[in-house]
Amino acid sequence: MTTASSTSSESSQERYQHALMNTFGAPKLILTRGQGARVWDEDGKEYVDLLGGIAVNALGHGHPALVKAVAEQLSTLGHISNFFASGPQIQLAEKLISLLQPASGVGSRPAKVFFTNSGTEANEAAFKLTRRTGRTHLVAMKSSFHGRTMGALALTSKEAYRAPFEPLPGDVTFVEYGDAAALAAAVTDETAAIVVEPLQGEAGVVVPPADFLAKARAIADEHGALLWLDEVQTGMGRTGAWFAHTASGATPDIVTLAKGLGGGFPIGACIGLGDAADLLQRGNHGSTFAGNPPACAAALAVIATIETEGLLERATMVGEKLRDGLAADPRVTAVTGEGLLIGVVTTVDTAKIAAAALAQGFIVNNATPDRIRLAPPLVLTDEDVAAFLAAWPTILDAAEALA
Ligand SMILES: *Cc1c(COP(=O)(O)O)cnc(C)c1O
Repeated sequence: MTTASSTSSESSQERYQHALMNTFGAPKLILTRGQGARVWDEDGKEYVDLLGGIAVNALGHGHPALVKAVAEQLSTLGHISNFFASGPQIQLAEKLISLLQPASGVGSRPAKVFFTNSGTEANEAAFKLTRRTGRTHLVAMKSSFHGRTMGALALTSKEAYRAPFEPLPGDVTFVEYGDAAALAAAVTDETAAIVVEPLQGEAGVVVPPADFLAKARAIADEHGALLWLDEVQTGMGRTGAWFAHTASGATPDIVTLAKGLGGGFPIGACIGLGDAADLLQRGNHGSTFAGNPPACAAALAVIATIETEGLLERATMVGEKLRDGLAADPRVTAVTGEGLLIGVVTTVDTAKIAAAALAQGFIVNNATPDRIRLAPPLVLTDEDVAAFLAAWPTILDAAEALA
């Protein structure tokens, strides 16, 4: 057998190039299995995964609780369509609402969930929801990322992503991230919503001033606009809290989720709070797969495991340890982020750092030319952390030595 089951990396790369569209460029590795925060490639080489499938694998790879929940659900009741509902779907919606509004009862607002299969679809649902206010103007942030479908792309500022696909759905104003005065100047009584990431993940983990979300809330209120927080990357424990916005005290009207929600099983959610809970009405939106039983069972297992294994606290603690260790090298000029969403600002070329790290058995992401992003599994062990921090100066040395 030398054709279909060929195992050399080179041949898998060739087959990839022939069979898959070139949207992602050549894959860095062909991976074969994972366990915890470690993955292995075709040649059997082991890596510490400090990217976690881009802030997705909250429980790492192959977590027994996730495997069991999905397998059991799939063998009991798999897909059913949204003509029907399932227990896990209802339970997950209730759970997300209670996580968003822990002090439910007095003062809590109605909240309702629309499930999706991805982050961009969660934002697409939210975009359509904002249209139901009767207004069309949206204010988004420069350096934002909200996804690749046409609606989400219209809110994403990066020119290289937008330009090939214009015209995009219009009436979007972009303002400097974190600039409350610019935001106040852009929002009018015609504005349907302000859309903000609590931290900008794709931009390399950029953190706004501490009072920015509260100011955005006040500006939205002044003009009867909705505050829409895109927590696709920052939500579900990533920052050491269920949601990155909680500490700001700002209460959103819309929250979008995906990435970490299913721990690797594709699921997203658009949550409307207060009046926004009822803006999408029967027939306004839909999705065949969205919120199907295995996806909801996966998300319930992720949430339960974060609770039982104390992973919020762990994300905070391990994040601090990583931050301190990374900052100790003089070639690091700043370390940003919260919990296990970490940006490393460095004077060394980050594409070279990512390449050097990979060669030494560590997966990191060069989010921008001067920012490395880390978003490892929340189950990252002390041993994983120690291995990475011990290698960090050597990785930077090797990156500097690369032509
Ligand atoms: C990744 C991301 C998205 C898009 O999610 P997909 O699942 O890739 O469609 C949207 N918003 C933010 C903030 C993200 O980080």
